[in-house]
Amino acid sequence: MRCPNCQTKDIGKIGTNQYYCWNCFVEMSLSDGKLSLHQVEEDGTLSSLDDLFDDSDLQVGS
Ligand SMILES: [Zn+2]
Repeated sequence: MRCPNCQTKDIGKIGTNQYYCWNCFVEMSLSDGKLSLHQVEEDGTLSSLDDLFDDSDLQVGS
């Protein structure tokens, strides 16, 4: 599995179906084989990055 944002494999698991990229500091959640990306803002809120990617970039596995 690679980070769709920076293409590295420097991804750690932080919870059930939740991952974190240590390279670009993006949080990912996996559901139904598809990733959802969020950036953690300085105030702790999450903003979605999904609009920046094509669906095909967010598919995992196939
Ligand atoms: Zn990344």
